[in-house]
Amino acid sequence: MGILVIGSVALDTVTTPFGSMTDGLGGSATHFSVSASYFTKVSMVAVVGTDFPHEHVEFLKSRDIDVSGLETVPGKTFRWTGHYGIDLNSAQTLKTELNVFQNFIPKVPQKFGQNDFVFLANIDPDLQRSVIEQVKKPKLLACDTMNFWIEGKRESLLKTISLVDMIVINEGEARLLSGKTNLVKAAQVIHQLGPRIVVIKQGEYGALLFYDGHIFSAPGMPLSDVFDPTGAGDSFAGGLFGYLAMKNDLSLSTFRQAMIVGSVMASYNVEKFSCDRIRHLTQKDLHARYTAFKNLSHFDEISF
Ligand code: AMP
Repeated sequence: MGILVIGSVALDTVTTPFGSMTDGLGGSATHFSVSASYFTKVSMVAVVGTDFPHEHVEFLKSRDIDVSGLETVPGKTFRWTGHYGIDLNSAQTLKTELNVFQNFIPKVPQKFGQNDFVFLANIDPDLQRSVIEQVKKPKLLACDTMNFWIEGKRESLLKTISLVDMIVINEGEARLLSGKTNLVKAAQVIHQLGPRIVVIKQGEYGALLFYDGHIFSAPGMPLSDVFDPTGAGDSFAGGLFGYLAMKNDLSLSTFRQAMIVGSVMASYNVEKFSCDRIRHLTQKDLHARYTAFKNLSHFDEISF
């Protein structure tokens, strides 16, 4: 099954303790799509300005991502400037320049509207809802968001959240959205806002799945080389959603596997800046890290 995604396509300027990158390929839809493209066909709806390097579009096409819904309009591409200190878990946003996203009205190409899996990656919740209005009811509709929208457009965001089946959100944002410090309680509050399935990302510590009263914990992979966490959350969501779409199955056991597939993609994403590490992964790479995750958290039954 294919996926339709809307989100940001960006030029990111990022500094981490290990280096920096200026105007590198980024954006929630970008990281999500590149990751999901390892599992299924992805169709993207987004906008860039005339300054967006053509080579980036060529790269997306090379991953077999359908970019016929990626508009190029006069003006500057969305830009995000962020900084990570020694704690690579929390990005500090230095600047968000919406640029061409400010006047963007998403137009979902008719052929995209039939996708059974729709992901509303992190972007203005008004734009997320505009996509919902243009598609037939999907089998799985999910969204992501961030503090920028929770604080800046809360009412609109709550409307979007009330319409989705699943939300993928990081722990700080889950607390901000729910007003609860405890993540189990935060998930309960978020369920009440609409989504039946809540996934809370915990940076290097992994992610929690709240599904019909079950809780599943996917660990983070302890890595010796972490360069840039930007896009780890979107890569996680791309792996999770991509695997669910590939399997076309929403059972708990497939969700548990999908959480690990998401963790596999996130763990590769952080090893280099931008999408550089997940540009050219092989099936062997994916299997090797999935097995490493299995070994990381496997334990046997015991009897007392
Ligand atoms: P994450 O997976 O959370 O690290 O997402 C990082 C990506 O989100 C970056 O590549 C940014 O371009 C993008 N981003 C940052 N702020 C926003 C925003 N307010 N709306 C949409 N995308 C954003």
